[in-house]
Amino acid sequence: MKYVSTRGNAPKLSFEEAMLTGLARDGGLYVPQRVAERRPDEIAALPGMSYEEIAYWVIKPFVGESFGDDELREIIARAYAGFGHAARAPLVQLGPNHFLLELFHGPTLAFKDFAMQLIGQMFQTALARRGERICIVGATSGDTGSAAIEAFRGLDNVDVFILFPDGRVSDVQRRQMTTPTEANVHALAIDGTFDDAQARLKDMFNHFEFRDAVKLAGVNSINWARVLAQVVYYFTAATSLGAPLRPVSFTVPTGNFGDIFAGYIARKMGLPIEKLVIATNQNDILHRTLATGAYTTAEVVPSLSPSMDIQVSSNFERVLFDAYGRDGVTVADQMADLARGGFTISQGAIDYLRAQFASGRASEEETLATIREIFETTGEVLCPHTAVGVKVASEHLGTTPMITLATAHPAKFPDAVKQASGQDAPLPPRMADLFDRPERMTHVPNDLAELEALIRERVGA
Ligand SMILES: *Cc1c(COP(=O)(O)O)cnc(C)c1O
Repeated sequence: MKYVSTRGNAPKLSFEEAMLTGLARDGGLYVPQRVAERRPDEIAALPGMSYEEIAYWVIKPFVGESFGDDELREIIARAYAGFGHAARAPLVQLGPNHFLLELFHGPTLAFKDFAMQLIGQMFQTALARRGERICIVGATSGDTGSAAIEAFRGLDNVDVFILFPDGRVSDVQRRQMTTPTEANVHALAIDGTFDDAQARLKDMFNHFEFRDAVKLAGVNSINWARVLAQVVYYFTAATSLGAPLRPVSFTVPTGNFGDIFAGYIARKMGLPIEKLVIATNQNDILHRTLATGAYTTAEVVPSLSPSMDIQVSSNFERVLFDAYGRDGVTVADQMADLARGGFTISQGAIDYLRAQFASGRASEEETLATIREIFETTGEVLCPHTAVGVKVASEHLGTTPMITLATAHPAKFPDAVKQASGQDAPLPPRMADLFDRPERMTHVPNDLAELEALIRERVGA
């Protein structure tokens, strides 16, 4: 299995190379050359298998020769061993035909753990075999950073630097990044928004001299291995509700488009997904793009669901590549226009996107009202990101089972939960001392040269 860049001008790589590289050298994102379709009878054999067994079944064809069979089984077993729920991704029911897929039982209480724990183990295995050391730099709107630090802390062959927007992440999110004591962990509070952090990260990847000197690697959701890990729970959830005989729909609280793109891949693999609904908060660029055909960035407005406060959804480029019939030159042109404020999607491409995705947005008031209503009608306490999903999903309910992805534990966002429902959202006992641990972080300006100098100094490159 080979991986190609969405901008058509970078070398084709193996799974392991694409995983270790992150962003392609032409600025594009790696995607599999071809997604192998699985037969309905193969999918019908999944119900009753463990999460780990289904993960192996989903992931194996995509990794090719990069990991041996037993090696991959061990990687998967280690990745999910630290989860606080035996099912890993349990389903609960919200209403007659509406289900919640709880993706917050990992070590940092958000769905990012599913991907990050897996790639932590994959990186460790691959780097130990190669005898290499790398420098992981990530940008986070809150949850990616803590998940990355949790996955890579203390590993021998890796330094991990995480850029997060100063003052724009929740206290729990920040503390999960600033309290680990391992010397290879570096939490950097940047003076700017998440889009600024993500833009500086891209600048570093496009600065080849720096990239090579520090052996830069990326674990943001642009990393294909992360998308792949997230495909698994679409299969576990759908098959436990009757797929492939019965189609299901999913609604996904969306920011960088990584999670919903995994659902799109699951559908390409043959999982019968009827609707795939993009749910956005007031930063609704994806919803507007589907409605108007124009991708036009605006200012980020901070919201109750900060992990979705985004104007440039990196993984959208991956689906655009398909929408343009895998024409990398056109994608590169559109991305160049994006840097100047926006682009207009061709009629053929927007038709493709509208056939694949539905969308909706939830305002701040609707988010709070949804947390309150769901608590009152079911007793379930939702995090604000999940509430955005549940609100948008409620506009798409029908005879097909709807599964809304619950992307974070309510304890990560206790203020919003309290404001909406009057309920406290306590941390699970295994993290109850988070607010007693000392914090450690470095404040950095939104400036490429200064960031690069700091990273070089810390890794001695
Ligand atoms: C990251 C995140 C999202 C958005 O996921 P994308 O893959 O970036 O679209 C939604 N909710 C929570 C809690 C998150 O951490």
